[in-house]
Amino acid sequence: MSRIGLFGGTFDPIHNGHVHIARAFADELALDTVVFIPAGEPYHRDAPARTAAAQRLAMVELAIADEPRFAVSDCDVLRKGATYTFDTVQIFRQAFAQAQLWWLLGMDSLLNIHTWHRYQALLDSVNIAVAARGRDSLSQVSPTLHTWLPHALAKAQNSPDGRDGGRLHLLQAPLSPLSATTIRKAYAAGQGAGVAADLPPGVAAYIGEHGLYRS
Ligand code: ATP
Repeated sequence: MSRIGLFGGTFDPIHNGHVHIARAFADELALDTVVFIPAGEPYHRDAPARTAAAQRLAMVELAIADEPRFAVSDCDVLRKGATYTFDTVQIFRQAFAQAQLWWLLGMDSLLNIHTWHRYQALLDSVNIAVAARGRDSLSQVSPTLHTWLPHALAKAQNSPDGRDGGRLHLLQAPLSPLSATTIRKAYAAGQGAGVAADLPPGVAAYIGEHGLYRS
């Protein structure tokens, strides 16, 4: 049975924290592939402006080019309107019917997951792997997840195989302090050179060539 990690995000821009945790997820969970899934354009009229989806997708392609276990999907970029994670997972479920699927995320995202569209069905249909981030911790998950949490941790331990969902894995690898917000702010302040080392080299070059994140 193959194991596939699905790593959704804005990736505005993708940074070394994303790449490092994706590699650690692949190692710890013996994933055959990690598919990066950049989010599409915001569908709310009042959503904040951000880098075009095509440019965020291009940066992900540059970042993962040398890593054979990594792939990128444009499924959320191409879908019109709201792109719910639940629907994204169903697309991969149909395409890889026999695989074990893992949704990869940082702790800040897990703490919001109870606000996501059809989150209970999502947690039933996919396995979750979470990377520690900052001071956020599992003890802060919403009370609505208090029943799911111990059950999902135990399922990942005791029943590691199977194409069903409902497992939770806490990444053991050390946390990364990087965030895209910090990187955008540095570029906007004219201090891009100070954060270029936090980016895959091709991504830093792309940002420079396209003049991204200038205020
Ligand atoms: P922003 O600062 O714009 O919110 P970000 O750095 O959090 O961006 P996203 O594209 O929003 O990047 O993140 C995609 C996924 O990667 C999310 O699940 C997020 O929690 C996770 N993530 C990003 N950076 C880290 C990190 N340093 N450690 C752990 N998880 C991370």
